[in-house]
Amino acid sequence: MTAAETSLMTQPIPIPQKNWALFLDMDGTLLDIADSPAEVIVPVGLLATLEVAEKWLDGALAIVSGRTLGELETLLSPLKLFLAAEHGAIFLAPETRLPRIVLAHPVPRHMATMIEAAIASWPGVFLEVKSYGVAVHFRHAPQRGEDVKALLEGLADGCRDFSVLPGRMVYELRHRQVNKGRAVAELMQRPPFSGRVPVFVGDDVTDEEGFREAERQNGIGLHVGEVFGGSPENVRRWLRCLRD
Ligand SMILES: [Mg+2]
Repeated sequence: MTAAETSLMTQPIPIPQKNWALFLDMDGTLLDIADSPAEVIVPVGLLATLEVAEKWLDGALAIVSGRTLGELETLLSPLKLFLAAEHGAIFLAPETRLPRIVLAHPVPRHMATMIEAAIASWPGVFLEVKSYGVAVHFRHAPQRGEDVKALLEGLADGCRDFSVLPGRMVYELRHRQVNKGRAVAELMQRPPFSGRVPVFVGDDVTDEEGFREAERQNGIGLHVGEVFGGSPENVRRWLRCLRD
């Protein structure tokens, strides 16, 4: 751990407990952030670490991410874990290959078309269309952040079911009721998660609802910045302790 990382840490790293239900964000938590979501690298050993941790927790480990189900399955292949994709709009349990859709409220097609038209003249800004949301990334055009936000907020204002979720160099338009807190609540109602202490690890604004739900259920929210010095490598090292 570098001195810079240590100086960022304002909360102690907790010792993992066997009675936890562990909810892990993907990008910026398990994986280092890349220039674009497609360019992330799954570090050697991460899948083995997750597999051992999942067994140690008797299966009570889930990935809760804004990514689509297909992307999560590809990144984690051949490992089969509980997945809550698109911020909890879609769930997949390891024992079944049938995704369960919680809230089937796709962003209306005309909204995606309007976004496409608006960003066509903004180089470096790109649209990612998911099943139940759209994300507009501006990592390569940070000066466009406010424009992207205003564009999506304008569309959300005209449709009370949708809201704008901020992320790292990205804004997303999605159904109001879809968030990581709901994903945690949903999973905590079922085995092997129910009856355990929820622990949510995330790095971003969209993870805050996950932290809040974990805390509401007498669990813990662990912010990668505050607890792990902003380093996914420190999260991965900590996860390697989840074993006998
Ligand atoms: Mg993240």
